[in-house]
Amino acid sequence: MASTSRSPRLLVRSSSIHAAGCVTLDPIRKGKRFAEYDGARISKELADERYADRFVTYLFGFGDKGEVIDGFGTAMFLNHSCDPNCETEDIGGRIYIRAIRNIAAGEELVYEYNLWDSDDPTADCYCGAPQCRGTMFSEEEVKRQARRAARKAGSAARKKPPQTVVK
Ligand SMILES: [Zn+2]
Repeated sequence: MASTSRSPRLLVRSSSIHAAGCVTLDPIRKGKRFAEYDGARISKELADERYADRFVTYLFGFGDKGEVIDGFGTAMFLNHSCDPNCETEDIGGRIYIRAIRNIAAGEELVYEYNLWDSDDPTADCYCGAPQCRGTMFSEEEVKRQARRAARKAGSAARKKPPQTVVK
């Protein structure tokens, strides 16, 4: 990880947004990559099979081969927000969490999930941000679902945005 200072201390704790969340105990400066979304790389098909009856999953879709990361580690606890202070970055197939603004100690770390290709018809968002979009789906996914609904049972080809999360 390219950083000049030490990594911030991160704490997983209960969150007002979702069951668990991740806060930083140290300030993080804008632009810093401070965590990796790490875990086993598995196929979307295997993930669907493995987590068919699980309520909560920590899967991160990436790349263009339909692979997901089966999250293991602190980064998988970051919640979605429509007013994020972080974003994810794909560097050679490794996914890092990067601060998109200066973050104060004690703040919950959040990024936009941009969910797509979910088995669930809805992914309501309760992040509480003034600009909350009301859904954790990506804008592309929202449009795709609208097109699909308009066409009823169309056989829409799956179109994949570059970076997505399935949770
Ligand atoms: Zn929201």
